[in-house]
Amino acid sequence: MPEYRIPPDDDVRAAIARVFQTRHQVTSQRALKALVEKDLAGREKFRVGEGRVRLLAIDSGLIALEIHTREAEEKRALTKCPVCGARVKRLRNMTVFGGTVTLGFRCPKCGYWSGLRRRVPILYVFTMK
Ligand SMILES: [Zn+2]
Repeated sequence: MPEYRIPPDDDVRAAIARVFQTRHQVTSQRALKALVEKDLAGREKFRVGEGRVRLLAIDSGLIALEIHTREAEEKRALTKCPVCGARVKRLRNMTVFGGTVTLGFRCPKCGYWSGLRRRVPILYVFTMK
């Protein structure tokens, strides 16, 4: 028998909502995961992946997400948002030659953006809206 159980999405969503009833801000994804697991723990212990907590927190519409990044060397086109998985939009500009040039990418769902040099997320701050 496993020592930890995996909670269903609805339970994680409810736990996220309860966490933000007692605090305004959580300053890392790891801290939010720990708070959610603590909230869910009772007779059984639950384990929730950090990425899963982040996605459900974004989907909840309860929080504003602040994304801290470092800039990577690589220049590669993005199609999917590394933060929330949504399809990113290209940021384009007209060139003097009448064409367009891609300046970067922006996620319409979570607000992540990147220039051509990839901005790699390193820290997330969750603030109640
Ligand atoms: Zn996104």
